[in-house]
Amino acid sequence: MKSMNRRDWLKSTGKIAAAAAVAPLVFSSMANAGTAGGLQSKSSVSYQDHPSGKDMCSNCAHFVPGASASVDGTCKVVAGKISPHGYCFAYTPISS
Ligand code: SF4
Repeated sequence: MKSMNRRDWLKSTGKIAAAAAVAPLVFSSMANAGTAGGLQSKSSVSYQDHPSGKDMCSNCAHFVPGASASVDGTCKVVAGKISPHGYCFAYTPISS
């Protein structure tokens, strides 16, 4: 094993300290990318206001229905009003 002199040790520990200082900022910004109040933005999950075949919000496990079956509801993972006939990449069939 190669021995490390003081200069090398300071260089390596300095890089580790710098990485540790920056990591929370990087991960925080990654976690918040495309989110609004902890929910994903519609654009970040490619939300569309029409179904993808038979897959649509009204049969997605994340959908929270509105006052009636035909009006907009909300979603547990996507921000904003959600059409019961919408669809996005976070679609999760109720049966799964
Ligand atoms: S996750 Fe996507 S498909 Fe499912 S209810 Fe929310 S917006 Fe609709």
